[in-house]
Amino acid sequence: MMAVENAIITHGHADHARKGHQNVLATQNTIDIMKIRYGDKCAGSFQSIEYHKPLKINNLNFTFYPAGHILGSAQILIETKNSRLLITGDYKTSPDSSCQSYELVECDQLITEATFGLPVFQHPKPENEIKKILKAFEKNDTKTYIIGAYALGKSQRVIKLLRDAGYDETIYLHGSQLKICDYYISQGINLGNLEPVSYKKSADFEGKIVIAPPSALKDKWSRRFSDPVICYASGWMSIKQRAKQSLVEIPLIISDHCDWNELITTIKSCKTKSVWVTHGREDALVHWCKSNNINAEPLYMQGREEE
Ligand SMILES: [Zn+2]
Repeated sequence: MMAVENAIITHGHADHARKGHQNVLATQNTIDIMKIRYGDKCAGSFQSIEYHKPLKINNLNFTFYPAGHILGSAQILIETKNSRLLITGDYKTSPDSSCQSYELVECDQLITEATFGLPVFQHPKPENEIKKILKAFEKNDTKTYIIGAYALGKSQRVIKLLRDAGYDETIYLHGSQLKICDYYISQGINLGNLEPVSYKKSADFEGKIVIAPPSALKDKWSRRFSDPVICYASGWMSIKQRAKQSLVEIPLIISDHCDWNELITTIKSCKTKSVWVTHGREDALVHWCKSNNINAEPLYMQGREEE
């Protein structure tokens, strides 16, 4: 991903938002998140755009719609007089009370992500996945439960799911999670009582939940907890081998991307005539579209990383 003169950004994850662009157009949440992560001067200038309000650039109308992926995430509709092109960015259509809800947008040409674009990916209900933690607590309430979750989006979603499931104890956070959690709270997302992990003894975390970035699960940071239960919230946890390899005791299949059914339902519902598939497992989705008489092609992009 290169720095460019004019960047239109769907959301704040590092594989979609980088620093160094001259001009950035994005939702206010995405701009705020970029500034928190990269500093106030991470772009030459910022222009915020509200959902649903078209902006005319060179005879094209650009309209942002909620993508349901993380706070501020957007799908971008680009319209001429005769055609509607929709770029989904990262998205999911299933409910998530930690961000704006996904909205279906009809179009003629769809560019969809396909992170989980294989029929084998069928995400279970996150409300049920989070109960695995609460059930483990019932069996053993003296252990420390460390949940690996990316700092932007996944952590806040996991916390919100725990709160919605009735867990109202203090949740402890790795230092890298604090700023974004504070930002979500400032935007009206109720995350309950949160505290940083620092300056506490191992015994203080017995019977507690700690949230940390996945990278911290294996490094020396996690050695401060004696015999913790390692949990990991990710769509990839549906691959059992992956959970085993990372020594995860409680895998939580909680994804911020569409699963296979969400992808094909979106393609059908948006009434598109043509699909470009990107960011993930292009081939299976392209094949599905063609079998359903919808034109489709893979669209390969540079700079793809997983977040
Ligand atoms: Zn993303």
